[in-house]
Amino acid sequence: MIIDVHSHTPQYRGPVPPERRVSNTAWRPDRTVESVYNWDEYLQAQTPADISIVFGVAWHPGDSTGGVDGIADDSDMPGNVNDKTAALVKAYPERLIGFMSLHPHDARALDELERCRCDLGLRGIKLGANYQIFHPLEARVLAIYEQAQRYGLPVLFHQGTSPVRMAPIRFAHPLLMDEVAMRYPDLKIIMAHMGHPWTVDTAVVVRKHPNVYADISGLFYRRFGYYEAMIKATEWNVLDKLLFASDYPVTTASETFDALGKVNDIVAGTQLPRVPKDKLEAIIYRDSLKLLELD
Ligand SMILES: [Zn+2]
Repeated sequence: MIIDVHSHTPQYRGPVPPERRVSNTAWRPDRTVESVYNWDEYLQAQTPADISIVFGVAWHPGDSTGGVDGIADDSDMPGNVNDKTAALVKAYPERLIGFMSLHPHDARALDELERCRCDLGLRGIKLGANYQIFHPLEARVLAIYEQAQRYGLPVLFHQGTSPVRMAPIRFAHPLLMDEVAMRYPDLKIIMAHMGHPWTVDTAVVVRKHPNVYADISGLFYRRFGYYEAMIKATEWNVLDKLLFASDYPVTTASETFDALGKVNDIVAGTQLPRVPKDKLEAIIYRDSLKLLELD
């Protein structure tokens, strides 16, 4: 069983109008990313995963849009970002688990949490403090963590840097998660992208807290950084808490799967340490739903 814990809700159910296509060159150094896509393209890309966790991003309080390209992302579906995720998950319940995105500065954020949990059947929360421009320890978001912990909703945080100019990087620094986890010890937290490039900071936070995990999405195409992240995870003994994830559309599950087999290639012919192969393979087949109590 392969579980992808990090993928983004398509903007379109039907065909993407050609003028709405976006080839994004900023996300990764080795190829462009088609960042406006539809249900078929998403489902096709996710076929290597048996189950995928999918979510949008509530870029601003009360937004009705919320694709990977930000507030300007158009859509052919009614409702807000969470309605779009719920519609997709409802159509493919055996393959998908939906997370909600909430904006902590939305006066109705807790009502939206209840609506998503009870009416839409969404089972976790995606937050991006840098994209949404809030401090991860400010009072308005603590109220969300409180409810998430109470109802067993895991929270996946964007962690580390991003090319989005107006997203303050410091709000997504992995060391801030340490204090969130200290205040909410039963909250299940997923630190996305191993907090790149602060992957060792992420490793030491994950090591401290039994309910904090990190996903490996969006890393492999920086080959040295990927190797380094995995070696740091090995040395800090947290390889067992890394979750398989693609961050589609930024990468695909199959690219991510292949890259896990090549982590050590970069040090071939050297005395540098290797990441144990069995531990890398275990990431692919990790039962993340069990760890997150979503099974
Ligand atoms: Zn993402």
